[in-house]
Amino acid sequence: MGKIYVVGIGPGGKEARTLEMLEAIKESDVIVAYTTYAKLIQDLTDGKEVITAKMKEEVFRAKVAIEKALQGHTVAVISSGDPQVYGMAGLIYDMACKNNVNVEIQIIPGITAANAVAAKLGSPLSMDFAVISLSDLLIPSEEILNRVRKAAEGDFVIVLYNPINKPLLLEAMRIIKEVKGIDVPVGIVKSAYREDEEIMIATLSTWEKFLNKINMITTIIVGNSKSYICNNKIITPRGYERRYDLHVIDSNS
Ligand code: SAH
Repeated sequence: MGKIYVVGIGPGGKEARTLEMLEAIKESDVIVAYTTYAKLIQDLTDGKEVITAKMKEEVFRAKVAIEKALQGHTVAVISSGDPQVYGMAGLIYDMACKNNVNVEIQIIPGITAANAVAAKLGSPLSMDFAVISLSDLLIPSEEILNRVRKAAEGDFVIVLYNPINKPLLLEAMRIIKEVKGIDVPVGIVKSAYREDEEIMIATLSTWEKFLNKINMITTIIVGNSKSYICNNKIITPRGYERRYDLHVIDSNS
């Protein structure tokens, strides 16, 4: 019997790939990928059978991958970022289980958009954070907005993936602002680690000036009540200032 690797390729650029990901793709003779991701790893797939599919065909991709593995192939199913984070990992395990298929499945983790984007913004994720997808294709929007509200009430830093539905995004941000009641920093990064990367820093009251820039390869991070902007970076303090005096650098020394 073959094997399935569910591979996270990171945010896009070669510099954010892992060695484990390169090995898994090298070992695979079949690659199953959404068309855009197949292009991002084109340099690695020469001589392999590459099966591409459109965005909403995840179930088809999982089916093909499992069938190919049953035929004895080593298959790499490609996700951007990390395959657990709104990627293919859950679906592959779920379908293998529900169809009583006992094929070997190995997850290869990747740098998820939250980490890639946070790195570009400064250090917004240095305290407890919640990751929420604003895609209402599978989850009803009331359920999504309920999670947004709870995360805001918990004063989590909030990372918003899939901000494609503009009315839903506006409502989510309105709720966060209503709950937090203060003007916390908002970081918006489009195409992190890709050619057309754009980094935008604003606050809950000014972020809408970037609304037209937000597309399906954009991730938004809203800080917590302690986050602040300094030197054009978003900083979320870890809490050291509660126990230590941080004003200790003598710039004359
Ligand atoms: N598995 C992926 C997420 C897939 S959902 C991961 O772990 O990153 C797709 C969403 O991920 C996009 O709508 C966007 O919010 C985010 N995303 C993926 N790549 C990105 C990139 N290079 N820059 C900014 N956001 C990205």
